[in-house]
Amino acid sequence: MVEDMPKAELHVHLDGMLPPHTVLQLAERNGLLDLLPGDTEETINRWFVFRDFFHFVEVVRVMKRLLSTADNIALAVYAIGQDLKAENVRYAEVTITPYSLVDILHPDLTIEELLQGLETGRRRVREEFGVELRWVFDIPRNRAFADYRNGGDYVPGAAENTLQYALLGRDYGVIGLGLGGNEVNAPPEAFAHVFAQAKSEGLRSLPHAGESEGAASVHGAMNALQADRIGHGVRAIEDQRLLDQLVERQIPLEVSMTCNVYLNFYPRIEDHPLPRLDEAGVLVTVNTDDPRLIGTTLSREYRLLKDVFGYSTSDIVRLARNAFTASYAEPDLKAALLVEFDAWKVAHSIP
Ligand SMILES: [Zn+2]
Repeated sequence: MVEDMPKAELHVHLDGMLPPHTVLQLAERNGLLDLLPGDTEETINRWFVFRDFFHFVEVVRVMKRLLSTADNIALAVYAIGQDLKAENVRYAEVTITPYSLVDILHPDLTIEELLQGLETGRRRVREEFGVELRWVFDIPRNRAFADYRNGGDYVPGAAENTLQYALLGRDYGVIGLGLGGNEVNAPPEAFAHVFAQAKSEGLRSLPHAGESEGAASVHGAMNALQADRIGHGVRAIEDQRLLDQLVERQIPLEVSMTCNVYLNFYPRIEDHPLPRLDEAGVLVTVNTDDPRLIGTTLSREYRLLKDVFGYSTSDIVRLARNAFTASYAEPDLKAALLVEFDAWKVAHSIP
């Protein structure tokens, strides 16, 4: 059932989505095979398997090294579009960290070239696979926090550049400004000015919060950053008042159960608070975050709801529909996607 269900994915990172054949192709054409542990898909798949956080970060860094030109980025986008199509994902908001690519890793790559690569890939994906892609540009919070010095004087850097890139990207499908990386020692409040400007210029505030830090981080994202949705946010469960606010304001959470378990925030899927958040009335969505690096798929995440938590088909479908309603697809597109989703429900006699 879940394989066939039309899906929307709201929280997934480009560097955690690349299929092994594309990784090899990109490495080969850029003379970067020495960055990889081998030249077969099997080796890449084994290397992808999550071991610990440091290995994870290392793999992500290599993926970013491969996204060095507009052509490479277009090819990567095409490849992920093919995978999304195979999962019957109809719409995805994919997170990219342009600062790492343009300012850190690839001195020859301009933001215009990055946007052009994304756009070329996105068009091919729409034409060939019928999958709609939008982008979230996220601020690498630890790098940006290092810019925050001298008792509060902000030195413009990663946060401001990311904002400028996201503003430039509005005509190329960028719908929001994100905030990624490790929350520890990098609370959201420092970025309030950047998110305020983003929102005043039509971008949505889509920070990660409440994953590696607790309720205070979610509180900061909601209030200082005026989050329109929260990446993870699951640790809001630790604070009843905050939970009440999330319910009252219906701020959607982008939940990735397998990711939270791999990164050791919960020992097992069974311990994950998704059902309790859902029960409390929080608007929960189901996502993969880094599917290739944590060995999951969006269908598998939905299956976990049934296999681990005993969710009924209609409750699974209810959460899947949440992802469409919580998306930032343009109104016409969103309406069309919901019509398609509801027709699928009716065709399968799901209440
Ligand atoms: Zn994430």
